[in-house]
Order: sequence, then structure tokens, then C-alpha cells
Amino acid sequence: MQPEIAPVAVVEVDSGGLLERFRGGLKIPTVSRQPGEGMDTEAFQAFRAYLAQHYPRVHDRLELELISRHSLLFRWPGGEPSLPGTVLLAHQDVVPVDTGSEGDWDHPPYEAVVADGYIWGRGSLDDKFGLFSILEAVEGLIADGFHPRRTLYLAFGHDEEVGGGDGAVQIARLFAERGWTIALVVDEGGAIADGMVPGLDAPVAIVGVAEKGYMSALLEVDGMGGHSSAPPNQSAIGILASAIVKLEDNRFPMRFDGATRAFFERGIGPESSFGMRVIYGNLWLFEPLVLAMLDRSPMMAAMVRTTTAPTIFHAGLKENVLPARAQATVNFRLLPGEKGDEVLEEVRRIISDERITVSMAGRAREASPSSRIDSRAWATLAETIREVFPEAIVAPYLLLGGTDSRYFRDLCDCVYRFLPIELEPDGLRRAHGTNERIPVAGLVDGARFYRRLIENADQATLDSDESQ
Ligand SMILES: [Zn+2]
Repeated sequence: MQPEIAPVAVVEVDSGGLLERFRGGLKIPTVSRQPGEGMDTEAFQAFRAYLAQHYPRVHDRLELELISRHSLLFRWPGGEPSLPGTVLLAHQDVVPVDTGSEGDWDHPPYEAVVADGYIWGRGSLDDKFGLFSILEAVEGLIADGFHPRRTLYLAFGHDEEVGGGDGAVQIARLFAERGWTIALVVDEGGAIADGMVPGLDAPVAIVGVAEKGYMSALLEVDGMGGHSSAPPNQSAIGILASAIVKLEDNRFPMRFDGATRAFFERGIGPESSFGMRVIYGNLWLFEPLVLAMLDRSPMMAAMVRTTTAPTIFHAGLKENVLPARAQATVNFRLLPGEKGDEVLEEVRRIISDERITVSMAGRAREASPSSRIDSRAWATLAETIREVFPEAIVAPYLLLGGTDSRYFRDLCDCVYRFLPIELEPDGLRRAHGTNERIPVAGLVDGARFYRRLIENADQATLDSDESQ
């Protein structure tokens, strides 16, 4: 059931100033590059200087450490140093605008145009909204004389979009080395989604409690070349294509457990219409029905199975020559508990063709273990969401992508992924695509949410407190 929240005084936010501070940050193109591609260090330096200029109290009061030259780790020591800290994560970097898609943007990606009730720009949602909302909240708390009991950490990586190896990985390692304990981690991930679930009118605050894993398989066929005037019955392209078809026809089985089961049973189930409530409340009976329903939406289906996505296919150079080699890459997103090498074995079994070599491309990453949803840290987060978004149903879910927060899971079992913003159904798709934007009205919600989260987490007795 959803927590009942007593009304709290609305946090005053300087919405005009916030909008201008945020827009200035969107105009600095902190684009992340793959390691070795050479990053735009000037943009990150400019962004850092911009933050220092516009959040003077944060920079005056909190300790700031640069990690790998560009990631920012702020620390606000609490009055009770033995208490485990609160960690808020966001990232400075943004994905590039796809070459050739610039003209498809309704407003240029780095001009932070305000139009039609939205702020448009690359990074507006992912993740400068989170970063500025957190800074705004902390700046306001300092101005109002707040002194935390619990140490507050703000960690803003610079390479989340390319794996976090220099940012979040190193920051998490510092926590371990220094013995800094953590009660709660909140990072980007879910949001407030409208119209997502059948039988439910209310907006749903989806909070990521686990992340799917990642593995790519390389499929190769060799030594089939020749002249196209006398082709064999099956060419390298034909052999490889039929293997891909087999994989798409034999998708991995659906599994209804963990975060996804909790999403229905504990999150939205009790809040749904009568008919759906009966179904979600009796999953022992209705599981096949619910799975069939989920299978109709690619997004929902990805929550209940390891997905199969052929992403690269290479073969042939000349129209009258049979290619000697054909190669394909298939990307799998792993459900929690499924291992990369086991999935690869299953791929070989499904294909069952000795002419095809199947190997792992790079290294597999297993899904993160699920965070606790019976914890006081979870309850504190859920209550804070309901304070700021009283209509929202808070529900745990399995995040389909990856975030920096996975590196903190070994340090804390209360790692949650949520951005305090209401999104339209296509909002998440815009995050890495064209016309990324957020509603102007959402900025104030963001600043309020983090402020209340910091205050609530500071006051609450959290799960890990006693063990200190
Ligand atoms: Zn992000």
C-alpha cells in the first residue's frame, strides 16, 4: 500500500532564477566520448566554473574533490559522523547529438530554448535536470541554515554515458577505501510515468531497484566465398541470416520475479481497478495472462525476459562476389540471475549450426542485485515522492538500462534510481534521441523533491544506523 503523507509546507523555490541557471548549464555541451576518443576538456572545465559561479554556498560550505580530473565529489560532513551518509548521484555528461539528426530538432540542442511549456536541449532530462535540482536544493538548505546530522555526498560523474569507468567506479572505490558508510543512494533511472500501466489512471513513480545486465554475442561464418555466378545452396549471408531468425523466433523465456513481480504485487496492484487488482493480487493463477499482456509491449516485455537484439550485420563488398565472411552482433540484456556465459551457451544451442562461430564480444556485465524494498530507506524515499507528487503510486521496477549507481550496490543495499519528474509516454525515448526536453513546471518539483529527500533522510532512523 502507498504511504499516507501529512501535508508539509511547500518548499519555496526561486523558479525564475532556477530556470536561468539551468538554461545556462544546458548551453555548455559536456558531451562524453568513448575512452581514447579525446574528451572536450574545455566544456567540462567551463561547466565546473559555471556551477561554482551559480552555486556559491555549495562550493563554500561543502568539501569538493575532483576525481579523474572532471568528476565532482562534494561532501557535507554531518554533525553525527558515525551515521551512514546520504549519497545523491547525477552525471555531468550528455550523449552526442546523432550526426545528421541536428535538423530534426524543433529547437537547437544546445540553446536551451523555452517554448510550448518545455525547456529543449540535450541533457535537459538526462541528467542535468537531476544535477541542477540537487544543487538548487542544497544551496537552498545552506541559505536556510540547515546543518545535516548525516553526512551528505553529491557525486557528479563525467563519463556515465560511456560506462563510468573514470567517474563513478573511482568514486565508489574511494568510499570503500575510506570506509565511508552509506544509508541511501539515489540516482537517475525511473520517473513519474503517465498512462503506462493498463487499468491504472494514476501516475506511477517507477523507482529502479535493480538494473539489467549486458552481453553481446559475435556470430561469424567463414570461408564461403566465390563467384556469384555459381553460388552454393546456402551462402555465408544465408547461413548467418537464418541463425538470426532462429534467435528471434526462440526468445528467452519470460520470468516473473524480483523487482518486476514486486512492481505488480506491491506497487501498482493494490491501486488498480477492481478487475486488474484481482489479477495482480492472484499472480499464482493469472501469471500467464499477465505475461501475455506484457509481451505486447517491447518495454514491458523487456522487464520479464533477457532480450535479444541483433544490432550489427556485416557481409559483402561487391555485387558479383560471394562474401567469404559474414559477421553479426547480437546484444542481450540479462535478467537478474542470468549469466553471460550461460546465455551464450543457450545462443549456441538455439543456432545449432557448426558453420557458425559464436563468441562473446567484450565482457558481459551481470544484472545488479535488487535493492531492499522492505527498508526504512525505501520508505523514506517513497514518502518523499508522495509529499511532492501526492497522486503518484510508488512502485519498484527493474531498470532496463544502466546507471552510475550500480557501482554503489556493493557499498549499500538501498540504491534507488528515480528522477522526480513527470514524463509523457515518449519522454524516456527522447532522453538519448531527438528533441530531448522537460516541462518548465518540472524544475520546481525537482528542487523541492531533493530538498525534502535530504531533510527526510537526515531525520529518519535508517536501516544501517544501528550497525554503526
Ligand atoms: Zn543518464
